[in-house]
Amino acid sequence: MKVCKFGGTSVASAEQIQKVAAIVKADVTRKIVVVSAPGKRYSEDIKVTDLLIELAEAVIAGSKYEDKLLNVVARYKENAEGLGLNPSITEAILTDLHARIEEASKVSDEYLLDTLKASGEDNNAKMIAQYFNSVGIKAKYVSPKEAGLIVNEGPERAQAQPEAYVNLNTLKDTAEVIVFPGFFGFTKSGVLRTFDRGGSDITGSIMAASVRASLYENFTDVDCVFSANPKVVNNPAEIHEITYREMRELSYAGFTVFHDEALMPVVKLGIPVNIKNTNNPLVEGTRIVSKRKENNRPVTGISADSGFSILYVSKYLMNREIGFGRKLLQILEEERISYDHTPSGVDDISIIIRSRQLSPEKEGRIVNRVLNELNADDVYFRHGFSMIVVVGEGMNNSTGLAARAASAISKTGANIEMINQGSSEVSLSFGVQEKFENDILLALYNEFFAVTAVR
Ligand code: ASP
Repeated sequence: MKVCKFGGTSVASAEQIQKVAAIVKADVTRKIVVVSAPGKRYSEDIKVTDLLIELAEAVIAGSKYEDKLLNVVARYKENAEGLGLNPSITEAILTDLHARIEEASKVSDEYLLDTLKASGEDNNAKMIAQYFNSVGIKAKYVSPKEAGLIVNEGPERAQAQPEAYVNLNTLKDTAEVIVFPGFFGFTKSGVLRTFDRGGSDITGSIMAASVRASLYENFTDVDCVFSANPKVVNNPAEIHEITYREMRELSYAGFTVFHDEALMPVVKLGIPVNIKNTNNPLVEGTRIVSKRKENNRPVTGISADSGFSILYVSKYLMNREIGFGRKLLQILEEERISYDHTPSGVDDISIIIRSRQLSPEKEGRIVNRVLNELNADDVYFRHGFSMIVVVGEGMNNSTGLAARAASAISKTGANIEMINQGSSEVSLSFGVQEKFENDILLALYNEFFAVTAVR
């Protein structure tokens, strides 16, 4: 049995939804279909999820929101008409949105935002199930609440709980094709919570793990995963097979094709993931697997992402002070901040943090606490960094790779602010100033792909 997930662009219009139906019809083992909310139909278009966020913000602000609500409904109406569905489905969506606003306004702003965001996938799943039936695919919408997709209570980010996997497992015996909305679940006490943006990938993965699918097909709008961002590197090499670890490292920094949280459920069971193109479904795509065939390239992909800050801390004889690192990280924990890397010297340590978690007040508090409680000599934040990550299973048995990378970076004139290599040696990360990001990506690509190819 295969679980298929169709992303926003795959379900953005009637024409796209028709392609989805054709894909599901073409293979009887495609038994569970997880869908996103309608995404962009063209590059300047707005995703329904973003329209819903605007709607929620207007409701929360107490301003007029009827137009925003009708904008959302208009997207479904257009699709329903294009698919030849009964107009009652659009009426039902209008009623549903009003009901969500009324109910959630009595609860909290956070819940209002969550329930409106989730309506994007929920209403789309209902419409797609109806369309499947109209074209002869026996299908059934299943709600995450009924099915028992249980997530944790807030305030931590929503994550599926162990019982969710047990509950969803029962869906495997359903006769019809299941159409299941991505992106949200319910706490034990029945409160709806959404996953991170792009979280329908996570739902698909939870579902694939729950029903022990033979394959998790993730349909999107590209033929495959590329070895570097095609917006920066012209015609980057295609990746047809990649390991979970490689994909995890790449999606950490900028590879947005597949949500980084979405690997966890399938990795444990070794269920392969196949990234495929809804617009070109016969192309093999990219398979994400636990072990792949070896090739002669040490590097599989190079990713880059901006928006990092560095907290620098130095103290004479830091290396001899028992508990220094723990106390430092505890201060970050108390500010609810996660960190990505902690490269260090004998008397200093740098902590790499996603800047979006920081604010001037938080930074001020952290600096003061580290100075006062840990008696550090010097403490400060710097902003505007990018992380460039060179990834490949073949890296751990090839020598001189770091030297090649550093030399390629030096030719761009950039200073390397940080280097980090995890013990698995599957990745090598460089912290650099944001303005050098694209030049470095190109230089590294040329070093490991273009040059390797002609050698
Ligand atoms: N619709 C949600 C978003 O735009 C979730 C998803 O599409 O995966 O983030």
